[in-house]
Amino acid sequence: MSDVLEEMERLIEEIRRHDRLYYEEDAPEISDAEYDALLQRLRALEAAHPELARPDSPTRRVPGRPAEGFRKLRHGAPMLSLDNAFDEGDFREFCARIRRFLALPEATPLDFVAEPKIDGLSVNLLYEDGRFLRGATRGDGLEGEDVTANLLTIAELPRQLPPPFPARIEIRGEVYMTRADFLAFRAQQEAAAAEREARRARGEKLGPPVQVPVNARNAAAGSLRQLDPAVTASRPLRLLAYAMGEASEAPAETHHGFLERLRAWGFPVNPLSQRLSDAEAAAFQARMAAERPQLPYDIDGVVYKLDRLDWQARLGFVGRAPRWAIAWKFPPERAWTRLIAIEIQVGRTGALTPRAVMEPVFVGGVTVTHATLHNEEEIARKDIRIGDMVILQRAGDVIPQIIGVVPELRPAGAQPYVFRTTCPACGSHAVRAGDDVVRRCTGGLTCPAQRVERLKHFVSRRAMDIEGLGEERIALLHAKGWVTSPADLFRLHRHRAELEALEGWGPQSVAKLLEAIERARHPPLERFIFALGIRRIGEQNAKLLARHYRSVEAWQERMLAARTPGSEAREELCSIQGIGPAIAQELIEFFAEPRNLETLSALLAEVQPRPVEIPAAESPLAGKAVVFTGTLATLSRQEAEARAEAVGARVTKSVSRKTDYVIVGSDAGSKAAKAAELGIPILTEAEFRAMAGLPPLP
Ligand SMILES: [Zn+2]
Repeated sequence: MSDVLEEMERLIEEIRRHDRLYYEEDAPEISDAEYDALLQRLRALEAAHPELARPDSPTRRVPGRPAEGFRKLRHGAPMLSLDNAFDEGDFREFCARIRRFLALPEATPLDFVAEPKIDGLSVNLLYEDGRFLRGATRGDGLEGEDVTANLLTIAELPRQLPPPFPARIEIRGEVYMTRADFLAFRAQQEAAAAEREARRARGEKLGPPVQVPVNARNAAAGSLRQLDPAVTASRPLRLLAYAMGEASEAPAETHHGFLERLRAWGFPVNPLSQRLSDAEAAAFQARMAAERPQLPYDIDGVVYKLDRLDWQARLGFVGRAPRWAIAWKFPPERAWTRLIAIEIQVGRTGALTPRAVMEPVFVGGVTVTHATLHNEEEIARKDIRIGDMVILQRAGDVIPQIIGVVPELRPAGAQPYVFRTTCPACGSHAVRAGDDVVRRCTGGLTCPAQRVERLKHFVSRRAMDIEGLGEERIALLHAKGWVTSPADLFRLHRHRAELEALEGWGPQSVAKLLEAIERARHPPLERFIFALGIRRIGEQNAKLLARHYRSVEAWQERMLAARTPGSEAREELCSIQGIGPAIAQELIEFFAEPRNLETLSALLAEVQPRPVEIPAAESPLAGKAVVFTGTLATLSRQEAEARAEAVGARVTKSVSRKTDYVIVGSDAGSKAAKAAELGIPILTEAEFRAMAGLPPLP
């Protein structure tokens, strides 16, 4: 999960940087298509992990337009989200919860107002003394963007309410585009985009990028969030009002009555909204699903709100959703299309993620050309082959998923998909560790897809502890090409003059940074190992490795030897207390990748990790590899091992030729026998206590 979060944050930062380059510095580094690819990737991640999506994500604003252009407005009452129902069972359960909460007898009918759920952009409109004062987007639910000037371009928005009205009231509604308006608008944008491409081909000045909206909702949101209200005014935006926020006095006793008031005040209210009992909901739902294709706008379900406002008030909220309303969604739409290719993308932690490229198909209100395939196991499980006719599903804003293939339409000769075993970004081996479903690039230190992240980790406080190198600076140094691998950091002084010329750096801060880098040339071995960012080698495991191998030379030599299956070095590695087979496997893979070895040796030309010191009180066990077997009379196994380590011994789990001593307690098994066979000295508990500096047995 944190991998995903990291990738999302990197994407957001990257998109913002390109926005700045484009709009403020007029120096774009990437093409529109590449920019769109970044946005698309972010959208996909947000759809797959909605709980991680940031309210200020660039996907939630007009692409390419910094949302910073709008003032923030706080809503009087929060704009909440709705829980979803997906079938009649969910809806009945929702009604049962209401009855339980209000302590109503089971058969009590509940009156609802049913309203088609339009796919647009929610807004909050504040009226004082009947006059429209200002309006904001939903934003994060607590505060949104001040789009008052743009809302004023919508003809349907009442400027002044006829009396009577509360002194102050927030009206909630949806700004949307009808399907016909959307299709015309999209055609117009497509033509403009084509014209722009033609200008590009002719080498002419391009002007601002043209955004082709993917669906009506996207078009409405993009249009309302234009920094220039004149642009908004040119877009065919509509409004439907449906709820109340904060109000100085209640304008009605029921939701139905409130909708009547809205109509009287001149707000457009959906004519399909109707009052019904809970028993009638399923029939209404079915009718709406049937009428959906003929409606002039896109809907993705029906919202049911309890009609009595006093009951709404009693029910209140759970989390961020009201207990008295639910959005009953239509089943996701499905469509068939042809799979053209499978692209593999590399995340910043090296995860290889497959993505389907398909012939364009219209599903769930958008034209879809890409879908997630999750991982290689998923491809194998569904036996998805290039050229297959695939069944796509798309629900709401979620990225489309391939739910299966149509085997009857498989082209002759289609081969099972073979997942690549090398990284598309750097060519390193890509492997799956243990039961991990994700294949990852092993070129950690060299892979361009992973570099900045790895560098960040490398300099972090608990790793090499180089002060003054935040994410932004690392990204900058990387972009300048001065630091592409950890070793480059130690050659950064060659760029001193250029660094000092960078905005916001200056000679003093450059001097401080270069000093911090110099100080990092002799890190403790454990921190050095941790800094390499080998998967599963966190601080704790780095410490175990450092304590066991003691010097970077010994560690490197033994790791290289451990690559050979069945080797003594492999056995030794696996026998280190606390290092399981999965961790050993990660190390072996890291050292099996020639690019990592190159990077490591370049780094070791600059950095000399400090060996682990043997404790000052010299014990005959210091530096010795010991194995415990059987039960000791006076010490628990844990305490005995801790004591052995405290005097400088290395505790391993199995006996090999590398073992110096085997300490044998009662009920010792095969380890004692193996020690005898290999001629390894055996210690009794008393002998161990003496050598470990413990008082003799009583
Ligand atoms: Zn790679």
